Amino acid sequence: MDPERPVPGPPVARADEVGQRPTRIRVDLDALSHNLRVLRAHAGVPVMGVVKANAYGHGLVPVARHLQAQGVDQLGVAFLEEGVALRRAGITLPILVMGGIFGPQAAALIAEDLEITVSSIDKLRQVEAAAEALGRRATIHLKIDTGMERIGVHSYHAGPFIEAAVASRWCTVKGVYSHLACSDEPDSPMTARQLARFLEACAHFDRLGVPMPIRHLANSGGLLNFPDTRLDLVRPGIALYGVLPDPDSRTTLDLRPAMSLLSQVVYFKVVPAGQPVSYGATWAPAVDTRMVTIPIGYGDGFPRALSSRGEVLLRGQRRPIAGRICMDQFMADLGPDGTAYNEDEAVLIGRQGDQGIRCEDVARAAGTIPYEILVGLNTRIPREYFLHGSLVPEA
Ligand SMILES: *Cc1c(COP(=O)(O)O)cnc(C)c1O
Repeated sequence: MDPERPVPGPPVARADEVGQRPTRIRVDLDALSHNLRVLRAHAGVPVMGVVKANAYGHGLVPVARHLQAQGVDQLGVAFLEEGVALRRAGITLPILVMGGIFGPQAAALIAEDLEITVSSIDKLRQVEAAAEALGRRATIHLKIDTGMERIGVHSYHAGPFIEAAVASRWCTVKGVYSHLACSDEPDSPMTARQLARFLEACAHFDRLGVPMPIRHLANSGGLLNFPDTRLDLVRPGIALYGVLPDPDSRTTLDLRPAMSLLSQVVYFKVVPAGQPVSYGATWAPAVDTRMVTIPIGYGDGFPRALSSRGEVLLRGQRRPIAGRICMDQFMADLGPDGTAYNEDEAVLIGRQGDQGIRCEDVARAAGTIPYEILVGLNTRIPREYFLHGSLVPEA
């Protein structure tokens, strides 16, 4: 490789070349292992760790490596490229690609030893043709639609689909699955309806007299709120990272947030009463006040919806975000008597002293769900990994 040519990668220089950007995501790998243990014990069945979307913002490869080392049973990703990235990184676990397959990628899915979601008879034929051309069997999971209306064969049409898949010479049916639409609402009747439809579809395997493949249905909400949906395997994503599906979700399980979002003060000043702050001049202090500037913004995926709504922890105190969040920076109000100094730690998600801001709190303030906060934090923000309390040098 030409040493003069830049290697493609995150759009920033490496932290060790130029000094650490003060804004960073800290991932606590011990929290991940802890959550995996708690969820597995709660489920009582094998766990597919869902690592799509850059492992919910935590970093695809380091998280997958850690989960593999911790004995997770299987991984789940959304599409081919995520699975390939894991194989290139040396992950040997079974990996299910959960998205609807794009026909032209069928051969690559098989060649990369990825398990394929087959969501129609047409897709089954595409996978069979690719497998036959490669001379290599495909491992597939059949997707049944029980009410999501996203991908999958409707449960009321599952008979011929299952029959065709079971008869396939080039496909091994390892699993059969569906996805829950309302599992974060413990009172919704939708989940019981979906479970009943799914089990009815699975009965076709018995009718055909073939062994039942692995049946899986539960995402985090299913696992937390609907014990009957656990079946033979569970597919938690967000709960694995210690975050709940909705700002209003509750659980009695001891889940620990794996992500902290940290920055440091880069500027301090006094703003006179009535003097507006930031774009649009939408906010002004009522009295002379002390303010700091924090170097993270919507260009990092820190939501602009938090303008004059979110909070930041500084010196163990909650401080309001004042005015609009900019692309790379925002301002926080310390009040007339507050103190903070340049380089003080600023916590956007995580704990400081006896205060904490959870991802769920940020989501509520931004008017969205915790998932969108996590996956929105982009590759401009360096990730650092802690194991047993120390920084992992090359995670
Ligand atoms: C994303 C996803 C999951 C994980 O969902 P969480 O709510 O994060 O637990 C499980 N199954 C499928 C099919 C998914 O797409």
